[in-house]
Amino acid sequence: MKLQANKESKAKSVKFTYMVKEKHWVGDGFHVHGLLRPSHGINKYISPFILMDYASPKHFSPSNKPKGVGQHPHRGFETVTFSYQGEVEHRDSSGGGGIITSGDVQWMTAGKGVVHDEFHSEEFSQKGGVFEMVQLWVNLPKKYKMTDPKYQGLSSQDIPKIQLGNTSELRVIAGDFGGTKGPATTFTKINIFDLSSNEGDRLSISLDKGTNTILLILRGEITLNHKQYEDQSILIFDQEGEEINFETSKKFRGLLLNGEPIEEPMVAHGPFVMNTKQEINEAIQDYQNGKMGNL
Ligand code: MN
Repeated sequence: MKLQANKESKAKSVKFTYMVKEKHWVGDGFHVHGLLRPSHGINKYISPFILMDYASPKHFSPSNKPKGVGQHPHRGFETVTFSYQGEVEHRDSSGGGGIITSGDVQWMTAGKGVVHDEFHSEEFSQKGGVFEMVQLWVNLPKKYKMTDPKYQGLSSQDIPKIQLGNTSELRVIAGDFGGTKGPATTFTKINIFDLSSNEGDRLSISLDKGTNTILLILRGEITLNHKQYEDQSILIFDQEGEEINFETSKKFRGLLLNGEPIEEPMVAHGPFVMNTKQEINEAIQDYQNGKMGNL
């Protein structure tokens, strides 16, 4: 009984949970649930993460013209795109670019500024099919906001897989799980794990005290701290506690985000995320004056 009590007391509890049923279009290629948005009530519990959009599975008919979002700028943070089904092609003004397909991740550091576009790949567009992806925005600390832009294409084969429980798998995209490191280079301490179970399993994941933790359930269900959570739920955990323990259903898929909060003022305005209003105005001017480049 004592052991059990200790285990319970170390577990993180859920601070906020919700679903966003409505979807909206980003360009004509991404039909997304807007799951995380910067807001005063929540920033403290989601930092260094800023925004998350989930394009849940959607069928696209074959098309000769790739669908997506045309050129637009970013400054002061990173955009991370996870492909689950279908392919995304990206080009940016710093020369970065590539196509990501199912299981791959694209990690773009906008830093001092890029202009980029994001479209379904030509091959996917021509064939059509089911498209599913997540886009996450990761904040940069003040001292790296004006770093040079960088592009990391993380292919599925470079993302280590760890067997968990009886039928589950954890892919280390960023950070460290029990000594296995993910391929992403990050500016602050971040762990990103892609979790899946074939059959129901009991999983336990240790995380540092004082860090922020978010779980998106893409498929299946989980039972955590005696409560059940359905697919497309997002769970935002309390900073207290050092682990999360949960039971998964069959065919579970989840995305776990964890990171050290950046405790600096943040001003998010459209595609720019800076520390002050003044820096936002400078970003708008620099973009209008072509300082973030062109495609
Ligand atoms: Mn973008």
